[in-house]
Amino acid sequence: MADDKKKSGKKCWESGGKDCGPRKEPPLIGPFNNGQFNFSILFFVIIFLVLSVINMFLSQPKEELIEFSDFKKKIETGEIMRVEMGEQYYIGYPYTKEAMKNGKTVQSKQLYKTVPVNDPAFVPLMDSKNVEYFTLPAQNNFLLNLLLTWGIPILIMFIIWRVLFKRIGNMGSNVLSFGQNKSQIVAEGDIKVTFHDVAGADEAKEELVEVVDFLKNPRKYTEIGGKIPKGVLLVGPPGSGKTLIAKAVAGEAGVTFFRISGADFVEMFVGVGAARVRDLFKQARAKAPCIIFIDELDAIAKSRVTVVGGNDEREQTLNQLLVEMDGFDSVSGVIVLGATNRPEILDPAIIRPGRFDRQVVMDRPDLAGREAILRIHAENVKMDETVDLKEVAKATPGFVGADLANIINEAALLAVRAGQSKVNQKDFDEAIEKVIAGLQKKNKLINPREREIVAYHETGHALVAAFTKGADPVHKISIVPRGISALGYTLQLPTEDRFLMTKDELLGKVDVLLGGRAAEKLIFNQVSTGAANDLVNATEIVRKMITDYGMSEKFENVVLNSRKNPTFLGERAELNTGVVREYSENTQQYIDEEVTKIINEQYVKVLSLLKGKIETLKKVASRLLEIETLGAEAFKALI
Ligand code: ADP
Ligand code: MG
Ligand code: ZN
Repeated sequence: MADDKKKSGKKCWESGGKDCGPRKEPPLIGPFNNGQFNFSILFFVIIFLVLSVINMFLSQPKEELIEFSDFKKKIETGEIMRVEMGEQYYIGYPYTKEAMKNGKTVQSKQLYKTVPVNDPAFVPLMDSKNVEYFTLPAQNNFLLNLLLTWGIPILIMFIIWRVLFKRIGNMGSNVLSFGQNKSQIVAEGDIKVTFHDVAGADEAKEELVEVVDFLKNPRKYTEIGGKIPKGVLLVGPPGSGKTLIAKAVAGEAGVTFFRISGADFVEMFVGVGAARVRDLFKQARAKAPCIIFIDELDAIAKSRVTVVGGNDEREQTLNQLLVEMDGFDSVSGVIVLGATNRPEILDPAIIRPGRFDRQVVMDRPDLAGREAILRIHAENVKMDETVDLKEVAKATPGFVGADLANIINEAALLAVRAGQSKVNQKDFDEAIEKVIAGLQKKNKLINPREREIVAYHETGHALVAAFTKGADPVHKISIVPRGISALGYTLQLPTEDRFLMTKDELLGKVDVLLGGRAAEKLIFNQVSTGAANDLVNATEIVRKMITDYGMSEKFENVVLNSRKNPTFLGERAELNTGVVREYSENTQQYIDEEVTKIINEQYVKVLSLLKGKIETLKKVASRLLEIETLGAEAFKALI
């Protein structure tokens, strides 16, 4: 940051090129937007007001307020020779107009002032004493009037205007391109975070290494004509280290890091956010190679369809972002990292090629990952030999990096409170309880019983996949929760691209889907709602086999069409379903029965398969409960 300031301090933003010296504020463009300019206007206005008030007081000679009767007496005695008959006061001067003209007045001489009384004898009195008298026209406090009627309201408006635009633009004063830029510019020296500080995210790191390499040696890629992704989307639950890893990329590559939150773009006025995006990219291009990190991307990139009524401002901002991302080529060395914990609500346009075309998942860490994260955060914490971070990791399934950092911190605080010089395991146990209690309130944890069910469920899928001919091999099994609905997952990766599927392969898929529920049934003699999604998929496959692929006995090679009814109000009979069948009621019944029959047959088959492998099932599931994720190799070794 310090470096950066020095650099920009040398540049002169005003035309003419004279040295402006170091400035606090970034450059502002346009004639009436210079913060200092406005400041000086305000300054002069205040000075002017103060001076004129002082002048008013200074230029008036001393006046003494006296009673009306005394005033009259002084006229009689000849002390007052000239009377100014104002609206509010009569002022008596001890000299005549003549004397005033000749400069014979003595400034220090006393003036008298009185509040007039309605006295008809007053003017004759003055006449008899040859006193000069006169009244001033009403505009005698013209200056004050002007000030009250114009000056002060204008001043107030001016202040409101300034405050308002300061809030809008945050840089103030810039009407035309307010919202210059809110993004905090963090220069190279600031980012000390490296991949070393991010633990338990090896897959994400692997994917980002390429980005780092590109930022370091862009030429290596551009010479060959290679294209590097312009945008990488970091996806993961809150606190899983998305911001951290984005910083680490900048730190590793040693490039400028522009960080801005999606929410910063969303403004009260249409167009402000878009202007901000434009400005951000302009700055970034000037500093390339660099990283633009847009945190909470979902704030601007929400799907345009799902928002009822739409939001012009957000839409414009999003459009501008898309335009900017399309506008620069990867050669320019600007890489946009976006972070979101709700990828499903993003506008599809944002993940199209040339934009955020790469996704890096920051998942909740598994056991090994959690231990590594704990170690990183415990580096500077004094701990005694009772502490076993592995135990802490075991006790914290489903925790993200931020939760774990929190545990270390809580433990240290507890130790300090107890007056210990080192943190011990008891502090950790207490800290875990504390953090768990907090998370439970937020409904973010699954209980041990659920974990067990999930472990058997996923193992069921995996085992059926392993022992079904033609099923895709198991790539990974995990019981680390992913999102709100998925408590675990079994990932199968096909060995080759497939465009066709045989009937057996389809049934194999159904078997694998049913494996989860079958395992639950075998072990717990009870089924859970966890299989809901599997059942939807299995049923869909079987139904399609009958209606679309002509794979049933009765309707071999016949397609049983049903199409979605496009009109809502046209056919009343169809209103309930919205679907038009092109086959008879009897056929519908046949399809339903056939689907049930096939699923049942497959289920029985899967049950007996798993029953035969029950020892393996238990072995794999308990291993899974222990370490939470099993890779392909580890899984193969176990069966
Ligand atoms: P996100 O941006 O995904 O919400 P952050 O990157 O802000 O999460 O993470 C918050 C904090 O949690 C980090 O500053 C770091 O201290 C800790 N943390 C999260 N994930 C990790 C990780 N994988 N390794 C080390 N620390 C982590
Ligand atoms: Mg974040
Ligand atoms: Zn399942």
